[in-house]
Amino acid sequence: MLAEIKGLNEECGIFGIWGHEEAATLTYYGLHSLQHRGQEGAGIVVGGNGTLQFHKGLGLVTEVFSRGELEKLTGMAAIGHVRYSTAGGGGYANVQPLLFRSQGGSLALAHNGNLVNADELRFRLEQQGSIFQTTSDTEVLAHLIKRSGEPILKERIKEALTHLRGAFAFLILTETEMYIALDPHGFRPLSLGRLGEAYVVASETCAFDVIGATYEREVEPGELIMINKQGIRSERFAPRVSRSICSMEYIYFARPDSNVDGINIHTARKNLGKQLAFEAPVEADVVTGVPDSSISVAIGYAEATGIPYELGLIKNRYVGRTFIQPSQALREQGVKMKLSPVRGVVAGKRVVMVDDSIVRGTTSKRIVRMLREAGATEVHVRISSPPITHPCFYGIDTSTKDELIAARHTIEEIRQLIEADSLAFLSQEGLLQAIGRSNDSKNCGQCLACFTGQYPTRIGGEHVGACVQTSWSEY
Ligand code: SF4
Repeated sequence: MLAEIKGLNEECGIFGIWGHEEAATLTYYGLHSLQHRGQEGAGIVVGGNGTLQFHKGLGLVTEVFSRGELEKLTGMAAIGHVRYSTAGGGGYANVQPLLFRSQGGSLALAHNGNLVNADELRFRLEQQGSIFQTTSDTEVLAHLIKRSGEPILKERIKEALTHLRGAFAFLILTETEMYIALDPHGFRPLSLGRLGEAYVVASETCAFDVIGATYEREVEPGELIMINKQGIRSERFAPRVSRSICSMEYIYFARPDSNVDGINIHTARKNLGKQLAFEAPVEADVVTGVPDSSISVAIGYAEATGIPYELGLIKNRYVGRTFIQPSQALREQGVKMKLSPVRGVVAGKRVVMVDDSIVRGTTSKRIVRMLREAGATEVHVRISSPPITHPCFYGIDTSTKDELIAARHTIEEIRQLIEADSLAFLSQEGLLQAIGRSNDSKNCGQCLACFTGQYPTRIGGEHVGACVQTSWSEY
């Protein structure tokens, strides 16, 4: 589904490279392929040769960087970031990477995720004299590193990371080193690759494909990787706990050509569709998916039921950021701008409309109406996730609990509100089975908190719950 009209938004994508003379340009291409993870700002910091230079701005990667800007960014290492603003809000100051200069050396930070204890850390740091230059939760790490009493930078970073709670995939670049860290639960995906002699790291493997890099392995939860001229080293900054990788990465966020923790997204989504067909079959003439994320699911549903798959909805790919509007009224208008029914496909047909999730319900209602206005005789809605009943605190902007339609209504009430002939959501068990992470292993747990309210970490000093697995720990 279209993130900006739905109210379900990823918070960032990160890319880094060490050991390539075209580091900035390759980071540009990497960020371009991660653009779906954030469209409000982009930035690149280059270094590795004794100095850090940066360029960042509001807008899409292609809007922020001209050829001239890239040519100014010389260095054999770079980190980059695309941002969707939730924690800390928008604005130029919060566009990452954040760059900090001090007498002890400069340091740049790029972060994907959300820290659930950022406010309390920030309060404590301000009490101790820190002055923040942004409203982003990311900045607390820089202050914690600076204030750590450890003698060398690697140990200061390790010590600082132990104070953080929540979801974080961090890239840190200094004048001479690059660090890569993933939180102990591994909420967000982060993969390591090679491009010749160079090391690359990215939120999704589609960023490797675009630059011709090869996939090496996943960054482990709780792992700190250090790369410098001497090579690559890996250490742990936190003990191993059950993995809680975000289910929505598989359902919705990641690109179909990416592999997330070793699982191809298109294949996972097709399996979601097959499982949905098994759980909620219906008599119909045609199956269609809401582009882009639900097309793979619709293909799986069609394959399993034998109902033909057709392109019943088309996305207008040339609608730019201009139409990303925050108000509900404009968001609803945005649906018309971005999606069109294919009258020749749906007219006179009983249509199965497959989508990845329902957040507020307003978008689903408009699409159902759009299909009916185009002549569909029946519209059966099938959703490839369980109902979203709780907000996410780990980097996905899912709206507040009050805005979540499934937090306030039964499935039958939602069906009536979105004016569908029938409505079904995928079960939690079906979700786990279809994605196929082997949940008997500690490494393969999956976060389900927005469906269950069982958060894998303490939130605001109150609740600790389980994701898929029953062991978790404070760190
Ligand atoms: S709460 Fe939901 S959206 Fe947030 S990390 Fe967990 S599965 Fe992902």
